[in-house]
Amino acid sequence: MSFRPTLFEYIMFMYIFNLTENPYVKRPFNIFSKVMPGLYVGNYRDSKDANQLNKHKITHILAIHDTARRIHSDKHYLCVMASDSPDQNLSQYFSLCNDFIHAARLRGGNVLIHCLAGMSRSVTVAVAYIMTVTNLNWKESLKVVKAGRAVANPNLGFQKQLQEFETLRVAEERRRLKERYPSLALVKGDQEQCMLMLDNYEELLQSRSICEGRCALGEECPTGLCRSTAQKEGQIETLDGRNQKCQEVQAQLVIGAIAAPHLLPQDPSLARLD
Ligand SMILES: [Zn+2]
Repeated sequence: MSFRPTLFEYIMFMYIFNLTENPYVKRPFNIFSKVMPGLYVGNYRDSKDANQLNKHKITHILAIHDTARRIHSDKHYLCVMASDSPDQNLSQYFSLCNDFIHAARLRGGNVLIHCLAGMSRSVTVAVAYIMTVTNLNWKESLKVVKAGRAVANPNLGFQKQLQEFETLRVAEERRRLKERYPSLALVKGDQEQCMLMLDNYEELLQSRSICEGRCALGEECPTGLCRSTAQKEGQIETLDGRNQKCQEVQAQLVIGAIAAPHLLPQDPSLARLD
């Protein structure tokens, strides 16, 4: 089997591993996306960039990916080992992550949640947290994140876990977090920020700065989430019935192809890059 990444996939690889400064690839991967006061979502590259971390006064880093580990000795870390597979159980970590994020924010800290591309795993954790500290459902919480980070796009399995979290567990998790951290210091600011972000989301959608995975074949997708090639290969279905390919899975495929071929998933529909 041979692996020949497309130009886009090659650029993704180069960008994530800090090998290029091409401004074209910065557009879909905003550096340090602020989604709430004291809460940022980023990619692996962001997590290594000491200048960016200091610029945004990041005190806490929640790393959630296959090889999560402490990089900066002067930051507080929560490292969660998790793959971007739809089968990966992420919801088992929601309470742990909520405690870490909430305690940090209550102390006036700034938290960066990052995975590899900052699209699926980190976004899922951010969505679960926002659901817990507000009364928003998972789709609204995802809009809040997307307004700050247009490429936010949890894989189908994670979307299902967020839906289940909403149906079965979030009420209890809200009670648990309030009991453990009775302070109401963040409540008003978070509510206001979420309303603002939901307004921003609608404006960004209107101006086609973000999309909901529904760009037609051949139409230019503002975030690159619905690239025409994605509709031909390796499709992942979203909860609202549309097909799109998770770019984070794709990024891992590229990395797997170049760095470690054995990491390629077994699903034959995802095994080809071109
Ligand atoms: Zn699109």
